[in-house]
Amino acid sequence: MAVMTDHAIRKIVIVGGGTAGWMAAAAFSTLLDSRSVEIALVESDEIGTVGVGEATIPPLMAFNHMVGVGEDEFLAACQGSFKVGIEFVDWGAPGERYFHPFGPHGQNVRGVPFHQLYLREAKRRPLADIREWSMSGVAAELGRFTRPGPQTPMPLAQLSYAYHFDAGLYARFLRGQAEARGVQRIEGKVVDVAMDADTGNVAAVTLADGRSVEGELFMDCSGFRGLLIEQKLSTGYEDWSRWLPCDRAVAVQSALAGPPDPFTRSTARAAGWQWRIPLQHRMGNGLVYSSAHIASEEAEALLVANLESEPIAHPRHLSFTAGRRRLAWNGNVVAMGLSSGFIEPLESTSIHLVQSGIAKLLALFPDRRFNPVERDEYNRQMQDVFEDVRDFIILHYKATRRDDSDFWNYCRTMEVPDKLAAKLELWRSKGRIFRQGAELFGTESWVAVLLGQGIIPEENEPAADAMDAAVLSDLLERMRLSYRQTAERMPSHAEFIARHCAAPSA
Ligand SMILES: Cc1cc2nc3c(=O)[nH]c(=O)nc-3n(C[C@H](O)[C@H](O)[C@H](O)COP(=O)(O)OP(=O)(O)OC[C@H]3O[C@@H](n4cnc5c(N)ncnc54)[C@H](O)[C@@H]3O)c2cc1C
Repeated sequence: MAVMTDHAIRKIVIVGGGTAGWMAAAAFSTLLDSRSVEIALVESDEIGTVGVGEATIPPLMAFNHMVGVGEDEFLAACQGSFKVGIEFVDWGAPGERYFHPFGPHGQNVRGVPFHQLYLREAKRRPLADIREWSMSGVAAELGRFTRPGPQTPMPLAQLSYAYHFDAGLYARFLRGQAEARGVQRIEGKVVDVAMDADTGNVAAVTLADGRSVEGELFMDCSGFRGLLIEQKLSTGYEDWSRWLPCDRAVAVQSALAGPPDPFTRSTARAAGWQWRIPLQHRMGNGLVYSSAHIASEEAEALLVANLESEPIAHPRHLSFTAGRRRLAWNGNVVAMGLSSGFIEPLESTSIHLVQSGIAKLLALFPDRRFNPVERDEYNRQMQDVFEDVRDFIILHYKATRRDDSDFWNYCRTMEVPDKLAAKLELWRSKGRIFRQGAELFGTESWVAVLLGQGIIPEENEPAADAMDAAVLSDLLERMRLSYRQTAERMPSHAEFIARHCAAPSA
């Protein structure tokens, strides 16, 4: 029998059926008791979705697991491929490239972080790129992939991965899961929002055909427009464009010119950067740019000129302002996805921010009394997550030697948030980076970007000098070989997909 207190939430209304809305619906219908909570999702085919979120980071695996989605089944349904990291081209300076791998670099020795040993050795002799000490980095270089399991030995156990997929198909896939668990989908356009005069909370949304959808907890997953959180509640937006000046994107799909790489590529351009995301059946491409530095027609022409093969769809233009909604949870409305804020997709974090919002809401789930303590804690935690991601993205723009355009001159010389400035200072002296609190990106991610973009610390930390020089050299060489030999034994990424998760039409 369902256990229910007399003030438990009985009806959740999700406004919006993009990735955010259907992720929320799939999660709530799995993790809340369907005998006591009714869930409805309102979406409008006429309005449609953003539909360009195609690259993800490893925690999505845990989300899929949580909602009972099998990896191979999901990848086959979404034309998905594996992603072991991101290759950055021309970011530190034109002509340079580096790899941000998922998973660690090397292994720590007697408590000394691997990158400190690497820095020490690099002072003594010319050393290969740190990517050579990353399982994901070497696999990407060779176009290989295999799935590590719980019993997998080192160094393969260090291979960490996420996915590329068609975001529209992912939302459809989750919709199937959610509807099978009782979520009611309502097709219709929300034209008005009714408030409860006593509580000041949202009471219902009104659809164009006059229907009213009542609820107790409302999820605003309506995209950039923020139908409830902003248009009705005027919550306010914190604008971060002084640090993240890109405010437009143009996206286009093209044919695959060869087997799909198991990584995303991000290439810096004069006024932004271009993404390249290989799926099973096509390539996703886009240019993220600053409209103050390049016109949209020019951006589109630049994108199309830099495709590896013919476009297979019309380019789509999108506008945004980097930042976050001042309160992700306001009254009885919780904003998720684009309605809660947007940080450009340079490290593929938006879908993760949805996942993080869902997990935190489940951990702080309200009842009909809406205790402000839960709301305030949720808002504090979401603020931290957003700001941590923001700082990591700003790092990519700040840590550059590019001086070939106004855009890069602005980014290179801009003031950055205090926390990031302190991190950079700590790194510059002795290569120290610490993961603080629940930060999403760990030491290995910061090390990859900092070294990759040419920010070399003055010294390494003293503990790294303790090891005998010959022993260290030998150890590093053996580690490097073990990554390479392990990667060479893996199947190609294309073979792995064909064997395990090929889409029916691929
Ligand atoms: C250029 C770009 C690239 C991106 N790349 C990535 C990436 O690589 N990785 C990543 O993780 N994320 C990426 N994202 C973000 C990702 O696309 C979104 O975070 C994700 O798709 C969530 O979107 P959403 O569901 O919040 O909004 P949307 O997709 O906009 O969905 C909004 C929903 O609300 C509905 N709606 C709106 N108004 C009404 C109304 N009045 N009545 C009824 N329904 C309504 C719409 O019909 C739709 O169903 C990218 C975003 C952009 C802009």
